[in-house]
Amino acid sequence: MKTHILGFSRIGAQRELKKALESYWSGQSHQHQLEEVGQSLRQRHWQAQIDAGLDIITVGDFAFYDHVLNHSLRFGVIPKRFGDEQKADNLDLSFRLARGRAPTGTDAAACEMTKWFDTNYHYLVPELEQDQRFSFADKRLLAEVKEAKQLNHPLKVVLIGPLTYLWLSKTYGQAFDKLELLDNLLPVYAQIFNELMALGVNYIQIDEPILSLDLPNAWQAAFERAYNRLQRRDLQLLLTTYFAPLNENLHLACHLPVAGLHIDVLRSGKEWQQVLDILPDYKVLSLGVVDGRNIWRNSLAQSQQLLQQAQQKLGDRLWIASSCSLLHVPVDLANEQKLPTEIKDCFAFAIQKLAEISTLKQAVLNPHSPLVEQLIAQNNAAYQLLNQSTHWRQVAVQQRVQALTEQDSQRQSAFAERAIVQQQHLKLPLLATTTIGSFPQTSEIRRARAAFKQGLLNEQAYEQAMQQEIQQAIQYQEQIDLDVLVHGEAERNDMVEYFGEQLQGFVFSSNGWVQSYGSRCVKPPIIVGDVSRPQAMTVKWASYAQQQSQKPVKGMLTGPVTMLAWSFARTDISREQIALQLALAIRDEVSDLAQAGIHIIQIDEPAFREGLPLRQSEQANYWRWAVRAFRISASGVDNHVQIHTHMCYSEFNDCIEHIAAMDADVITIETARSAMELLNAFEAFDYPNAIGPGVYDIHSPQIPSVEAIKKLLNKAGQAIDKQRLWVNPDCGLKTRQWPEVKQALTNMVQATKELRAEWS
Ligand code: GLN
Ligand code: ZN
Repeated sequence: MKTHILGFSRIGAQRELKKALESYWSGQSHQHQLEEVGQSLRQRHWQAQIDAGLDIITVGDFAFYDHVLNHSLRFGVIPKRFGDEQKADNLDLSFRLARGRAPTGTDAAACEMTKWFDTNYHYLVPELEQDQRFSFADKRLLAEVKEAKQLNHPLKVVLIGPLTYLWLSKTYGQAFDKLELLDNLLPVYAQIFNELMALGVNYIQIDEPILSLDLPNAWQAAFERAYNRLQRRDLQLLLTTYFAPLNENLHLACHLPVAGLHIDVLRSGKEWQQVLDILPDYKVLSLGVVDGRNIWRNSLAQSQQLLQQAQQKLGDRLWIASSCSLLHVPVDLANEQKLPTEIKDCFAFAIQKLAEISTLKQAVLNPHSPLVEQLIAQNNAAYQLLNQSTHWRQVAVQQRVQALTEQDSQRQSAFAERAIVQQQHLKLPLLATTTIGSFPQTSEIRRARAAFKQGLLNEQAYEQAMQQEIQQAIQYQEQIDLDVLVHGEAERNDMVEYFGEQLQGFVFSSNGWVQSYGSRCVKPPIIVGDVSRPQAMTVKWASYAQQQSQKPVKGMLTGPVTMLAWSFARTDISREQIALQLALAIRDEVSDLAQAGIHIIQIDEPAFREGLPLRQSEQANYWRWAVRAFRISASGVDNHVQIHTHMCYSEFNDCIEHIAAMDADVITIETARSAMELLNAFEAFDYPNAIGPGVYDIHSPQIPSVEAIKKLLNKAGQAIDKQRLWVNPDCGLKTRQWPEVKQALTNMVQATKELRAEWS
């Protein structure tokens, strides 16, 4: 029986890698210093695995920027625009692919970045040409193996599998079937295997997470073909799957000619039992029972039981593992000083998860050893304490969710009727103009917020500083002559954290960083308890803003689905239940805002599409509760209150009917980057409510011209009823500078005015 993980986080407990990267990119340090930081992180993380007692350490999971990018370079997949004579192991080349520029070499357009399955980790999309050649071009992996060998501990090397790699790639130039490239790709794997074996490597972990997706037949068949060619008698291949159940790929996964299979027990229900039944006798089964996607301490007693059952069948062929790579969880709980103890006792970050995996092996081998019994008792006690706390477990909240009725997710009247009432009340012009919420977060704003947090600025002074920002923002918007104003969100650090901090049920780590892409990390809030709203959260700011203008000022909230998507969530109740609790808290805020005279309220849902399960069979259920949660948050007010929502960061073309089902009065949505491609969806589907397709891309510092905006609006006017069309940028403006913002919005208003004249 062996213990292992599928990979470790590489950013470092103190974000050492982030700091080293940024210092190198800005010219403040040398490449060899960056290399040293990388090496010491690898050493430290391997040592942590050894110290925890894992039987095998994992090599090849390290990346300065992204492991998929590394894989591309390893196989010599370098887009032509980066030049011909490129050495694939050149670090600067990898940074140019990732960011478009590096300390040396010529700039070129960076590769596209996208989400790694349903995680918040972003990988660089490989670009493949029809005549793509592959070679073992970057041999850094071999150097890492040599480094690891010095620790004198058994190791395995991790590689992305050929089918997952092709699946994640995009074709460049003319369209072709990516599977045609498989035959060229496989010999390079064989060569890498040979060179690894020459270094004494016996185990290779080969990641094929696409086995957890709905695969076309051709891809299923390609698995057989590929693994028949890759199989070796002299090398143990461990095929890994994670993030979702195997479903119809289960037989395929069990019968591929490899030495072992890993499954994600936490994301695949009772599939492990089926796998136990059909897995051929010669194979190892690695059970991922320690959650690589969440921060909760493992339920040891439960895992022990499950593993014991597996062990009866498998004996030594049972391996114990993390469910997926530990890339997706923060590094070390030991660095958390501020969490309430009863909460901290229920958490395990990556380092603690290593120990859990070892403990579980002991729990299977020596179930009655005093140490094991003590650990299990401790574990139970920690959860018991949490579950008995009336602060974290609120019966009133649970009952309120139970008591929700169909009516609670219905506005008083249908959109058509509401729209009339709202128009009488708001008297907005055709093509009403607005923004998405935030204005530039200047260094003064950041400084004031930081000083307030550290207690260097008292509440009154802080409030004054923020009020001044609001006043200024309102004044600018009036000068620009926008129709619906916003307060500018100066007081918010982050759209989820800001609300989480004011809600009961959340906690925040001080160091719980998780890599999002490259050097960028996020520190997700943690939902540990029942969610409730002790008091109004935004009314004070919104009212102040409304007092500064005769025009309507939009209230600004984050929706329940996004709050959930961007947090670590509890697992003792369903995501649906958590979303409903959040929805009720936001519903109360919406009511309070309305009562305070804020009659346009935006509930942002940029992550609405993000939580969609990977498996089609689970998607309908997700849409059902996600749409319901949003509607509950929005439906507690009278017809005259206009509810907006906003979405970005995703493709929405394939889920437009679910967006329509949210029944927001107005949706402002990102479209400018794709030149209104989204509008195709509106031709196929008659979106019933009002919509503001973003008319310029806020991610670019370029100022959109009046003509460009008019062109996009004209296009929009063809797909959408003009009476229901709004005009706004793509997303919030917090990352931009004021001079750009003013000019861009001035052009937007100018374009709108010209069109109003032309259209009426
Ligand atoms: N209201 C938020 C803002 O303007 C929306 C941010 C987002 O869509 N991610 O910043
Ligand atoms: Zn946005």
